[in-house]
Amino acid sequence: MQHPLPVAPYSYQTGNVVTLLSDRVMIPITCDHCQQQTDVSLGRLKQQTIFCRHCHQARQFSSLELRLMRMLLAQEGYHFAL
Ligand SMILES: [Zn+2]
Repeated sequence: MQHPLPVAPYSYQTGNVVTLLSDRVMIPITCDHCQQQTDVSLGRLKQQTIFCRHCHQARQFSSLELRLMRMLLAQEGYHFAL
């Protein structure tokens, strides 16, 4: 005998909108070298090599940083696929 699986009703909570971010969304990243901010696209961050717009310093954006950023953005209701 089969029992139907209970399905929780999908409910919207007011003021809690989930947004999916596109790869073109720009994220401000502070340069370790000159401390200036550069807007880097999410797609570029996923490739993990980023360049400072001010001093042209290249740096690696680690998987750990990417995961941390993903977690922090998710807490604010912003999600993206890795
Ligand atoms: Zn720099």
